[in-house]
Amino acid sequence: MDPATGDPLCTVSECGPDQVEQAVRAARRAFDHGPWPRTPAVRRAGVLFALAERLEAWADHLARVETLNQGKPLRESRADLEEVVACLRYYAGMAPRRLARTAPRPGAPLASVLREPVGVCALITAWNYPLLLAVWKLAPALAAGNTCVLKPSELTPLTSLLLAEALQDLDLPPGVVNVVIGDGPGAGRALAASPRVDKVSFTGGAAAGRQVALAALGNLKRVALELGGKSPVVVFSDQDLETAVDLALYAVYCNAGQVCSAGSRFIVQADLHDAFVRRLAERARRIVVGPGLDPATEMGPLVGARQRSRVLDAVRAGVREGARLETGGAPLGGGRLARGFYLEPTLFSNCRPAMRVVQEEIFGPVAVVQKFTTEEEALDLANGTPYGLAGAVFSRDLARGVRVARALRAGVAWVNGYHTTGPELPWGGCKQSGWGRELGTFGLDACTEIKQLNLTLEPAPIRWFKP
Ligand code: NDP
Repeated sequence: MDPATGDPLCTVSECGPDQVEQAVRAARRAFDHGPWPRTPAVRRAGVLFALAERLEAWADHLARVETLNQGKPLRESRADLEEVVACLRYYAGMAPRRLARTAPRPGAPLASVLREPVGVCALITAWNYPLLLAVWKLAPALAAGNTCVLKPSELTPLTSLLLAEALQDLDLPPGVVNVVIGDGPGAGRALAASPRVDKVSFTGGAAAGRQVALAALGNLKRVALELGGKSPVVVFSDQDLETAVDLALYAVYCNAGQVCSAGSRFIVQADLHDAFVRRLAERARRIVVGPGLDPATEMGPLVGARQRSRVLDAVRAGVREGARLETGGAPLGGGRLARGFYLEPTLFSNCRPAMRVVQEEIFGPVAVVQKFTTEEEALDLANGTPYGLAGAVFSRDLARGVRVARALRAGVAWVNGYHTTGPELPWGGCKQSGWGRELGTFGLDACTEIKQLNLTLEPAPIRWFKP
């Protein structure tokens, strides 16, 4: 469906349990008996390099499809495509160097530390960055020699299907990559529970993440969880107002706030607070909301009706609990926006720590502002939710910026910036934002088992027991 209009884009068949099982069996066969895990890492890297080239050549088309299906402005889809290609090239270049090491010790057997693939990996992704999340999981898993079953969100399956098409006729043995289309409680749960799957890597909300972890217990499969957040941005009054507000807009309203790491909680020093709120509200009202394919659009629709009503529900809770609605809070519906799932960029001030809008991830274009006086108070507020994915500090005093960023309980932190990352940098969260890290060397390591292999070159009796 196109979230800009609510119109269907095409029909995609849903996999039933039999087809999910068929995909898992194909991946199992390809892992246990196929050549992929035993292919030299440099050859596997060749396939990833070739895929990167193919997707790069196809980038315009893929970006358009992503925007049509997910709703985000085209410039954001294009930026995603650049990250997709960079991620594939990063793992193609890095994996062969990292997968084997030797640890010679004098007088001892020649010992090697081998990184071997984990096996069959189920990769379950969310709808906010469909292609990017798929490649974040697929690139390290393939580079390490695993076989995969990818399940995109049923809301945004199209670019994952095109990814499968791009993989066809590359030098990839049958069964190494499988894509199943289906919903979470059906196909997703079946993958997480399958005894033939060795690892499940999940990106999504905390509720589904818990269910995945429970389902995975049956065969104690490896579990990686990239979950949500309620990321704080601590704004000190020594920061220039225009810079702080400009970064704040990007932190919270990018992809209509449907970003796991969105900086959605502004914790602002008292002497800057009122001016910050006023200016942020003014700038939020000026954001051009429209269909993602329109080049003038700065913020697209939400992904669908259900997501918009969830966000509106959170907005109503904020009003009920006494937060002050500074701007937004309503669907946008006139003219060409009439049929899409648009929502005004929304800002609440006067927020208290216990409020639902402060504690819960909203996953829409909704920012909340809290006020602080001392650094200690700012940190208490910043760390005062169950989440710990990301966070930022805006201050001209870099020593303070780094001190506060280090004290944030979060997997990713920025000082005077937001959202910048890259395939070489680890991604993931503390507390209830997940288990483990993706990307970087950490992401590759998480797709491997470690084996200590000892080779005695000149064996002789050791006479531990009497002959
Ligand atoms: P959901 O948790 O609803 O779904 C995520 C994926 O899991 C989808 O493919 C979904 O399938 C599937 N799924 C749902 N329930 C189950 C289940 N019981 N067993 C197995 N799979 C299941 O999240 P959303 O798609 O709504 O995505 C939003 C969430 O994802 C937010 O909380 C966001 O913060 C988080 N996220 C985290 C990121 C990170 O890197 N930390 C990055 C991006 C998003 P289907 O949709 O087909 O039903």
